Amino acid sequence: MRHFQALVQIDSSVGNETRVAEYVKKTLEADGIQVMMVAQDPARANIIARLKGNGSKRPLLIMGHSDVVRVDPAKWTTFGPFSAARQGGYVYGRGTLDDKSDLLATMMTMLMLKRQKTPLDRDVIFVSEAGEEGSTGPGIQYLVNQHWADIDAEFCLAEAGGVRLKDGQARYALVETTEKQPKAARLIAKGISGHGSRPLRTNAVVHLAKAVETIAAWDPPMRFNDTTRFYFEKMAAVSSPEDAARFKGLFDAQKAPAVREYLAEHDPINYSMLHTSISPNIIKGGYQVNVIPSEAEATLDIRALPDENIAAFYDMMRKVINDPAIELVPETTNQRPDAAPSKLDSDAYRAIEAAFKSIYNVITIPLMQTGATDMAFLRAKGVQCYGVGAMVDEEDGPKGFGPHSDQERILEAAVYKHVQFFWQAVNSIAGTKH
Ligand SMILES: [Zn+2]
Repeated sequence: MRHFQALVQIDSSVGNETRVAEYVKKTLEADGIQVMMVAQDPARANIIARLKGNGSKRPLLIMGHSDVVRVDPAKWTTFGPFSAARQGGYVYGRGTLDDKSDLLATMMTMLMLKRQKTPLDRDVIFVSEAGEEGSTGPGIQYLVNQHWADIDAEFCLAEAGGVRLKDGQARYALVETTEKQPKAARLIAKGISGHGSRPLRTNAVVHLAKAVETIAAWDPPMRFNDTTRFYFEKMAAVSSPEDAARFKGLFDAQKAPAVREYLAEHDPINYSMLHTSISPNIIKGGYQVNVIPSEAEATLDIRALPDENIAAFYDMMRKVINDPAIELVPETTNQRPDAAPSKLDSDAYRAIEAAFKSIYNVITIPLMQTGATDMAFLRAKGVQCYGVGAMVDEEDGPKGFGPHSDQERILEAAVYKHVQFFWQAVNSIAGTKH
């Protein structure tokens, strides 16, 4: 708890990760662990540390990210954003959930392995990673491109899953084994310009509006992968009877359309897991009230299923829009690498499942994130990555205390349990079996 509060008290919301790195370095070195501080940008340092195993198995990488999202201090009405104040069983502060709880649990695991001189079949590599929140350049991309030999591993455990708590009861644990691929495309409408007093059927704004409406209302083809099939089956087992019936209905061709319609309205996360999704998020067109513009443009956020043939999907979109005045232009900048899902039957997955069972007495459910994480860069290099996380009260996010919310807090009990979980999972993945 002392280390956790110290980490939360460091304001790393504006690229000050080096201050966190220095704390982590000092802490690990105090127990005799050798530490590399590596940085592309001196203010945004990463930490790499390694405990050697006997080399009979390939390394395990454990990591947490040291940056946090920005804060609006005026919104922190309970306690200050970097107070790490403890009250009513909670610890308050930016990063308590995302991601200093993982940073703490991975760091503590290194300390305990070292103190107990745990014999290891594989090296355990720890990374305190900069720039996860939207600036992968000095963080994961720098590590993968410039320090690959230092972090290359068979398995990786990082953020993105965790234990869900409701009415004081742990219900199930999620492990992220794959994620959707962020893509983007622009719809460009071209028409004839003219005087606003004489409306034209070719008006680019009108064509764009219709195309955006059509594509947003489209229900793209549904497809499961191993993770999502398993996810909906297992979610049915831990959900209310109504939700369970709906999740099961997804596997019934007769019932699926009505279920999807329900999810689209009431459960956008689960709905998005069923297909490649499209959200029109920027729209531009026109510049003066009496001028019919010759061009208008919309930018679409597209989240592709991991196995999507995106070129074919764009062709499908063009057919759905069905308007020669509209051109669909894929964005090619800032794309993440394609990566196959991590295995659901690996030693690491089974060890995670066993650790969740023993610490929380819950079942483990594999998850496909709809958002993107840094694990995409590691999976693309062949690392089997599993997103884990601490215990979170499902009702706390809607109250305004979730990750990236105006305020953020974690259950104190969740901090301790998460350290126990990591310790146990890492021991069973990397510890020498007698
Ligand atoms: Zn995070």
